Amino acid sequence: MAYKFIDNYREKGARNNLVKHLESRGIQDVKVLKAIGKVPRHYFFDETFWNQAYKDIAFPIGDGQTISQPYTVAYQSELLHVKRGDKILEIGTGSGYQTCILLELGAEVFTIERQESLYNRTIQVLPYMGYKPHFFLGDGSKGIAQYAPYDKIIVTAGAPFVPEVMLQQLKLGGLLVIPVGDEKTQKMVTILRVGENDFERIELDTFRFVPLVGDKAW
Ligand code: SAM
Repeated sequence: MAYKFIDNYREKGARNNLVKHLESRGIQDVKVLKAIGKVPRHYFFDETFWNQAYKDIAFPIGDGQTISQPYTVAYQSELLHVKRGDKILEIGTGSGYQTCILLELGAEVFTIERQESLYNRTIQVLPYMGYKPHFFLGDGSKGIAQYAPYDKIIVTAGAPFVPEVMLQQLKLGGLLVIPVGDEKTQKMVTILRVGENDFERIELDTFRFVPLVGDKAW
């Protein structure tokens, strides 16, 4: 497939303004801000909508799904405290934008999407952009046991509860970041595995995600 991606001064300028905006909203992690400043978010949009790409809004990407709001991506990325070489499982690839941010932060990313059309798009677009995660198609609510344990797990869809299976796929000292709530709003929850059967849970701000649909979810 021939993609024509252009990243000119207009998009770069808009991206810099987005970074400043995210800083003003409280995002402090310099590496996360740098990653947001680097990944061309307009590549995930049809050219007709490039003027929407650097607004701090979620946007439809087809099949009833959205590319997450930049603030949400930055917020979850900051919570993950990504270290170079971290093995991260991302549940809900969507457009792949969050995946690119994690890769820019130096992680090895295992990403899973349940919708085939989105999966088919990201497996073409991301490598074209130079990003190479491990792609999976299927129900991520069960994690991916085959490649566990992970340093970090990030869930980018709203879960009704924390699936036990995800906790079991964390390394000791590993961290899960997952939005948990009802269909309308979810609290961002972080869970740190401090022992074999010992977990520290913190509830943070309220967000609105599309639902995590699957065997261990809605
Ligand atoms: N962070 C993504 C981005 O930047 O584009 C947006 C993710 S979107 C808000 C949530 C994604 O999770 C959707 O693409 C949806 O199809 C996917 N999803 C929902 N339930 C899932 C499941 N059980 N396994 C894998 N993906 C799932």
